[in-house]
Amino acid sequence: KNLVIAIDGYSSCGKSTLAKALAKKLGFIYIDSGSMYRAVTLFFIRNAVDMADNEAVIDALQHIELNFHSRDYQSHITLNGEEVSEEIRQMPVSESVSEVSANKLVRREMVRQQQRMGKSKNIVMDGRDIGTTVFADAQVKFFMTADPKIRAERRFKEMRSKGDTTITLEEVFENLAHRDYADTTRKESPLTRAEDAIILDNTALSEAEQLELALQQVQD
Ligand code: C5P
Repeated sequence: KNLVIAIDGYSSCGKSTLAKALAKKLGFIYIDSGSMYRAVTLFFIRNAVDMADNEAVIDALQHIELNFHSRDYQSHITLNGEEVSEEIRQMPVSESVSEVSANKLVRREMVRQQQRMGKSKNIVMDGRDIGTTVFADAQVKFFMTADPKIRAERRFKEMRSKGDTTITLEEVFENLAHRDYADTTRKESPLTRAEDAIILDNTALSEAEQLELALQQVQD
């Protein structure tokens, strides 16, 4: 049977860094489930989809095709054939993604697509509900946490290094706090640790140390 490694946790805890490193080391496929919710959010913003209108949401979902192009285990996602990997990381999407991802119809469709991707391949998938909902039977599950201030600083540096000069550390901190609150309190599969998930607090761990710890768990 194929292997599934599920990584969940709060925003900007280093989930994708660890997931990519594990995938590379093990030769697994890396899937960033958050980028799917982000790409859907981008489509909803561009097309001014009314989230309160179920029919509009269903119609929009039928007009969205997402595809991954994995180069060097970085996740590149296309929305109806357009490369949107950069645009989905910017503030307009970050500010709306929690609302869009709380929608039941959106989640149902994303979970269905994610489960299909992990059906027969060895994968590492990161997100918020992977170990609890998408792959509740995953062989290895991690739940990542880190100090909120450190998370905001890391994310801020990353956005600055990508050329976003307008953003402030304060704004990044607020956005993370807002998303954590929304993600843990929503009705549809809220962010929570699966009972059998291993906690990884990376506040004081280097990337190499995290990978080392995670690999030990995978090999057990
Ligand atoms: O992982 P990332 O921070 O890019 O995810 C963006 C947002 O997408 C999260 O804040 C959350 O609202 C949503 N998400 C989700 N379920 C997932 C992955 C992401 O609800 N499995």
